[in-house]
Amino acid sequence: MMKITWRPITLELKNVFRIAHGASARRHNVIVQVEEGLGEAAGVAYHNETPERIIAYLQTVHLAGDPLHLVDMLAQLPQGGSRAGRAAVDMALHDLWGKRLGHPLYRLLGLNPADAPPTSFTIAMDEPKAMAERAAASGMPIIKIKVGSENDEAMVRAIRRATDARLQVDANGGWSREQAAAIIPRLAQYDLQIVEQPLPAGDIEGLRWLRAQNPGVPIFADEAIKTPDDILAHAGAVDGVVIKLAKSGGIRAAVEMIALARALGMQVMIGCMVETAVAVTAAAHIAPLCDYADLDGPLLIANDPFRGLRYDGARLLLPDGPGLGITRRAD
Ligand code: MG
Repeated sequence: MMKITWRPITLELKNVFRIAHGASARRHNVIVQVEEGLGEAAGVAYHNETPERIIAYLQTVHLAGDPLHLVDMLAQLPQGGSRAGRAAVDMALHDLWGKRLGHPLYRLLGLNPADAPPTSFTIAMDEPKAMAERAAASGMPIIKIKVGSENDEAMVRAIRRATDARLQVDANGGWSREQAAAIIPRLAQYDLQIVEQPLPAGDIEGLRWLRAQNPGVPIFADEAIKTPDDILAHAGAVDGVVIKLAKSGGIRAAVEMIALARALGMQVMIGCMVETAVAVTAAAHIAPLCDYADLDGPLLIANDPFRGLRYDGARLLLPDGPGLGITRRAD
């Protein structure tokens, strides 16, 4: 049997992270190790992913065999229970595979790291003035603004005046159909690249209706997209989808979902949760397959114990070490 261990970790956020679902100053994730491979599970409340639930999943995982037979190893993962927990073990198995083979994951997948799109930088909800100051101070060329409040237009206007960055908005499902149809054309005048999850997850007919109104901004689904079936159900209803390892259940499933979305003519954004360099670097290894990246998790955390993905402004610099290429900061 392969050795699996885990350790809960508390992440302190640099700024209170406020979105349409609620606000948090810290997050509780779980770091997983399979032999020398590392993974991470994000405890995202709206996914019902608590550390307890993640650990309950990890206790059901029993792996045996040759880690070089990655597909066989992944096939042993229980499909029920915590998707974030499954994602963490999938990451750790990819890390272990790469470490045993002595190559970075992106190279084993045949990907050119220079093809990774630049990341957006997220500005959580706050007073418009504070949001504008944070956006300007970041110097980042792509800003994702969390909306879905009473103040959406004031926030976007203030940030537009403070920066020339390309702007995306993410409502996290916080608008009704009528609100979305009214506000999106107003926000479009501030030159938006993307509007993410304008309607609650599951309102696919609403998205189809909204898109048919020609709101002037490409619409992406995020919270609604967890499985290949979700992508199929959203075909024609959105312009693109947001894939995250914690939602898909890992790297293997994410790669399959990216291929499916592309086959259906959708654009793809690779995203992350509030996660350390472990999970976000894992996502960055497959970013070259995607059109957009939202991989700023480590930039939002004050106490990341890991080092992996680095940033040159918005440009993603993948580590060259074997597997995911993660090291511990204490090292
Ligand atoms: Mg989102």
